Amino acid sequence: MSVHKLTFDVKSEDEMLQFGNALAKVCEPGCVVFLEGDLGVGKTTLVRGVLRALGHRGAVKSPTYTLVEQYDFDEKRIYHFDLYRLGSPEELEYMGGRDYFQANTISFIEWPMNAEGYLPEADLICMIKYQGMDERLVQVNASTTLGEQMLLAIKKHNGL
Ligand code: ADP
Ligand code: MG
Repeated sequence: MSVHKLTFDVKSEDEMLQFGNALAKVCEPGCVVFLEGDLGVGKTTLVRGVLRALGHRGAVKSPTYTLVEQYDFDEKRIYHFDLYRLGSPEELEYMGGRDYFQANTISFIEWPMNAEGYLPEADLICMIKYQGMDERLVQVNASTTLGEQMLLAIKKHNGL
């Protein structure tokens, strides 16, 4: 059985944090997750949910100016990118480029299109859309075998 696409109706900020929690539980080392959607739609909030689920207690700052933030856990490292202000895709090379994407690192990348051609293939692509004041639709697409396994695991966790 394989799953390529799942859609979640996320009704509040709290539910987005819960969705991040679910994602944290299925993220395999080495995976790359793209986060797409308009400014303020909830991409960073989703990552905050992931980091909290993994045990991060401090603040989760949006890496708007730093472009990337690093969070270290016992067995894995999370990189949270926000490439909104990346001047051109080549700039990712100056930041260290491919060195970020290792077997034990997990990357969440906001505005991946700004580094098109310089990023590895995403395992999961989360597209977030406004549905109303606090409601969002999160469409998750798997584009690798690893991504499909992760999506299937989310589905099982949710009892869908
Ligand atoms: P982005 O990273 O996509 O620019 P942020 O996560 O930084 O967006 O901001 C999302 C804002 O929307 C936050 O102020 C959050 O409180 C608010 N919000 C309201 N409803 C939701 C929801 N369902 N999911 C995520 N954020 C929400
Ligand atoms: Mg953000």
